[in-house]
Amino acid sequence: MTTSSWRNWAGTETAEPTRTLRPGDVEEVAAAVTAAAEDGLRVKAVGSSHSFSGIAAPDGVQLDMGALDEVVRVDSKSNQVTVGAGMPLWRLNQVLDAHGLALENMGDIDRQTVSGAISTGTHGTGDRYRGLSWQVQALQLVLADGSTVHCSPTERSELFKAARLGLGALGVITEVTIQATPAFKLQAVERPMRLDAVLEGLDELVAENDHFEFYWFPHTDRTLTKRNNRYSMQEKRRRPTRLSYWWNEGFTENTLFEASNRLGARFPGAVPRLNRVAGRVWSARDYTDISHKVFASPRRVVFREMEYAVPREALPEVLTELKTTVDERGFNVSFPVEIRFAAADEIWLSTAYGRRTAYVAVHQYHRHPHEEYFEAAAEIFDAVKGRPHWGKMHWLDAKQLADRYDRFEDFLTVRDKTDPDRRFANPYLERVLGP
Ligand SMILES: Cc1cc2nc3c(=O)[nH]c(=O)nc-3n(C[C@H](O)[C@H](O)[C@H](O)COP(=O)(O)OP(=O)(O)OC[C@H]3O[C@@H](n4cnc5c(N)ncnc54)[C@H](O)[C@@H]3O)c2cc1C
Repeated sequence: MTTSSWRNWAGTETAEPTRTLRPGDVEEVAAAVTAAAEDGLRVKAVGSSHSFSGIAAPDGVQLDMGALDEVVRVDSKSNQVTVGAGMPLWRLNQVLDAHGLALENMGDIDRQTVSGAISTGTHGTGDRYRGLSWQVQALQLVLADGSTVHCSPTERSELFKAARLGLGALGVITEVTIQATPAFKLQAVERPMRLDAVLEGLDELVAENDHFEFYWFPHTDRTLTKRNNRYSMQEKRRRPTRLSYWWNEGFTENTLFEASNRLGARFPGAVPRLNRVAGRVWSARDYTDISHKVFASPRRVVFREMEYAVPREALPEVLTELKTTVDERGFNVSFPVEIRFAAADEIWLSTAYGRRTAYVAVHQYHRHPHEEYFEAAAEIFDAVKGRPHWGKMHWLDAKQLADRYDRFEDFLTVRDKTDPDRRFANPYLERVLGP
């Protein structure tokens, strides 16, 4: 046991847990939960602390899930893989590679733990694809009373529906069974385009590419579009050279981007010009690689982020309004706005529940003020009943969120049953789910 301060990746949240434990197996998790109850302390399982919101902030017992990172089972008939909840996604990808398998879709990075990623609804892009929680087939959890349970669509199905995207509110997840797919390659085509041309051709761009997304550079009408399409492992396509990898992901997207942001922080008036340069330097390129090497890349420039899921059909109106607001209100925004897509799903607290979705993510460099820009963006997203990413910054509370999720009450019912004393609550959960 140790006592140490906790802070998230972006430095937006800090906490002073009473004690920190690193359980090595499910019995140690159960013992930690029981002992916390005896001491009247709350418990928070913490993954890689990559959430921008206070969702992972521990105030009683912090459970560092990092030691629960073993492969439990690989079923080569069903392609289902069961792993310890604390396994980071980059390691899960190595395990899947070794079995000729892959995650169906991923977000931008692979540093998160499996349980942290599913608990906040982590997603990538693709009009026909859904977030990581959609791939969850079964869970093992330690509940507030110290018991260990399994859940799946056929076993404790109500708990499963809630806990596959459970905000850490229902118990400590110890094992996750994921549906993987046969390994595949992605061909990436990155092209600059004018924003109005992207919006005009949006239906085709989204429909004709497996994983389409784009970055819009505020203060300009420039975007960088990314079209990733799936190919079998046998097809031969061009891999990025070491030099092109270094130039784009190492140098342009990290080193040069950090320098440009530092300059923008010192001279805010230069931000529009810097963005125009960034829009040119992040240039066209084509390459093909194993899926996870294309989906995920390193993120070394520290930023703040708010992301909302908006109804897909509202996207053009939302972006047009965001562009007008940034220009009229004189915000200096040095980070591109990222736009991604997802199919509707049926997970109770999924941001894509019941509707085709576009994700709009606003970012700001950590040395730039973000509050006014994010608040103005939130107003635009709220007007179309947007749903904020649970792991990113936002200001909504339980009353507002209940109105945006059809199954919110069902989730609260499961919470009342499994955690009546709110052993797994923290200030963020009190705000977004209620006391
Ligand atoms: C640079 C960067 C890039 C990102 N890119 C994307 C992206 O492309 N797409 C996207 O959707 N999100 C993205 N995110 C957000 C990130 O995926 C989520 O915030 C994710 O939850 C972080 O995982 P984690 O392991 O760090 O979890 P943490 O932040 O540590 O925890 C998140 C939640 O999970 C709970 N939790 C963790 N482990 C357990 C467990 N074993 N049992 C029960 N609850 C648990 C915690 O209590 C907390 O509620 C990004 C974040 C960063 C910093």
